[in-house]
Amino acid sequence: MIRLLFYAVIFYICYRLIKGPVAFFLKGRIKSEDSDESGLADAEMIKDPQCGAYFMKQKGVQARIGGKTFYFCSESCRDKFLKR
Ligand SMILES: [Zn+2]
Repeated sequence: MIRLLFYAVIFYICYRLIKGPVAFFLKGRIKSEDSDESGLADAEMIKDPQCGAYFMKQKGVQARIGGKTFYFCSESCRDKFLKR
């Protein structure tokens, strides 16, 4: 009877050892699928630091200020931000 309990424990440990990596693998797969979707860098939505509007990065106005690159929804927003 004790022997049976011992096998049950071994079986449980094996089950946990197998289940752990499988769950990890599945999580990794879901994560990589997510990163594939967000890999469309050109279609990225970013926030205008001046007016707070969200717009497509590729359609924004780019400006380098103090070594940092900022994106604005329009040239007028960029000018306002520069004057600030
Ligand atoms: Zn704006």
